[in-house]
Amino acid sequence: MSFRSGFVTLLGRPNTGKSTLLNALLGAKVAIVSPRPQTTRTRLQGVLTRENAQIVFVDTPGVHRPASRLGEKMMQGVTEALEGVDLALVVVDASRAPNEEDRQAVELARRFGGASFLLLNKIDRIAKPALLPLIEQFRQQHSFDEFLPISALTRENLKLLEEKIIEQLPEGPAYFPADTLTDQPLRFLAGEIVREKLFCETREEVPYGIAVVIDTFDEAEAESRNLVRVHATIFVEKESHKGILIGGQGARLKRIGREARQELEALLGRRVYLELFVKTRADWRRQAGVERLVDWRHGEPA
Ligand code: GDP
Ligand code: MG
Repeated sequence: MSFRSGFVTLLGRPNTGKSTLLNALLGAKVAIVSPRPQTTRTRLQGVLTRENAQIVFVDTPGVHRPASRLGEKMMQGVTEALEGVDLALVVVDASRAPNEEDRQAVELARRFGGASFLLLNKIDRIAKPALLPLIEQFRQQHSFDEFLPISALTRENLKLLEEKIIEQLPEGPAYFPADTLTDQPLRFLAGEIVREKLFCETREEVPYGIAVVIDTFDEAEAESRNLVRVHATIFVEKESHKGILIGGQGARLKRIGREARQELEALLGRRVYLELFVKTRADWRRQAGVERLVDWRHGEPA
């Protein structure tokens, strides 16, 4: 049996379910999911290894018009994420009418020129007859190699999707060891988990002006006491946000910390001592070097 391997990029406007899909395909949580857009700030890789193939997924920030320095950085990330990949997956939310950002995503796939699938996600939310006109609408913009209705949530058609993806990959050896799940260090994942809990807990009150920096990720006692010590600083843009985050008598921050700790413990298979600090740093998003706060590839945060 021949072995196939290759790189697959997920594209699509924010909130269409790209991170959910990535996690569902991998059967593990490597990308954070949020009901609000723009929680994925960096490119994430997830690796799926089967007997006959290895698929390396590149998740991207949602396609959108750059508004700030961070926004520009993210769009650049989308374009880069397409370089040299074998397949582009455009994910749209089938339960919503297509908009300009969906068109942008399709346009990126068209310009990419390689194999591409259109994934109509969230079909658990719609009546099947609604799909055909939607598919027709997208087909007019770009002749995708496949149009697949899926649900990342209920896993409908995900096995089929996996098979179709593998068919598109060239023959070749695995890029990573078979047990690799992601190229993200645990330290980075820890920050993402804290960020996810923050988003879940604060909803609309604290907008996107949040960054999480892992100050220490200390595994010195991992073997002796099965314990990992994590200190994280949460940066907010406004003093008022600090109060909201912390909550009355620190209740909210405690809740965030507890949820993040439980998930970290499950991820690491160790006990975790998690300490959270909240600091105000106005305008962090427009400062030079901000990418160091949000992308571990640029090195340790300052
Ligand atoms: P991303 O911004 O494209 O990465 O989107 P996320 O993966 O963060 O998902 C955005 C929201 O859509 C979350 O609330 C998900 O739970 C939800 N979602 C994702 N996939 C599905 C799906 O197949 N069906 C339904 N009903 N909701 C979904
Ligand atoms: Mg995402």
